Amino acid sequence: MQDELKSIIKSIKAYIELEELAGVGEFLRWGQASSALSEGSDAPAGLDALKKEALSCRKCDLCRTRTNVVFGSGNPKAKLMFVGEAPGREEDLQGLPFVGRAGSLLTKIIESIGLKRTDVYIANVLKCRPPGNRNPLPSEILTCEDYLKSQIETIKPAVVCALGKFAAQTLLRSIETISRLRGNFYDFNGTKLIPTYHPAYLLRNPHDKRLVWEDMKKIRKVLRGS
Ligand code: URA
Repeated sequence: MQDELKSIIKSIKAYIELEELAGVGEFLRWGQASSALSEGSDAPAGLDALKKEALSCRKCDLCRTRTNVVFGSGNPKAKLMFVGEAPGREEDLQGLPFVGRAGSLLTKIIESIGLKRTDVYIANVLKCRPPGNRNPLPSEILTCEDYLKSQIETIKPAVVCALGKFAAQTLLRSIETISRLRGNFYDFNGTKLIPTYHPAYLLRNPHDKRLVWEDMKKIRKVLRGS
């Protein structure tokens, strides 16, 4: 009971922080987004095997400059999976996705719908950092995307949330802008996929947190029904 109360308070805090910056005033009903986990599967073993392969990957030149492969982290049976662009400096050093400033904001976004970071799975399109955080090259995306597709196939989340232009355009094979793509559900090989703005973009454009909040509510609704 106490844990539940703590979790609700944490959600409210995260929501208020998002809301304060977004400038929206709305009354919401709180609670867990149903069970955060999908039913039993071989996902943990499958992901471990895939990770082992990725950790020694030398399919593109990024292997020469990386410190660590950032395969992904979180719950292998997650119902909600986030996909970002590529590891940044902090992620490259730690071997974990979204651990820098954008990562702290992503954590708040996750908590705003009553989930914990450990409930969801977080991965990137590229598993290795592009030098100087430059944009991923089309050839790097093509070379690396099979890892991401296998991760999604293995985890079988109810919803994939693509963070930003690169994740959305890669997974949807689209050249549409993120502003147009965000907020809508698409089919990705039988899985619901919704693009939203990348947390790093939100750090530069806090006004658009309001739109991400709208997208998160849509995700919460789908998760509740799943
Ligand atoms: N930005 C991303 O797209 N991924 C990370 O892991 C960190 C920042």
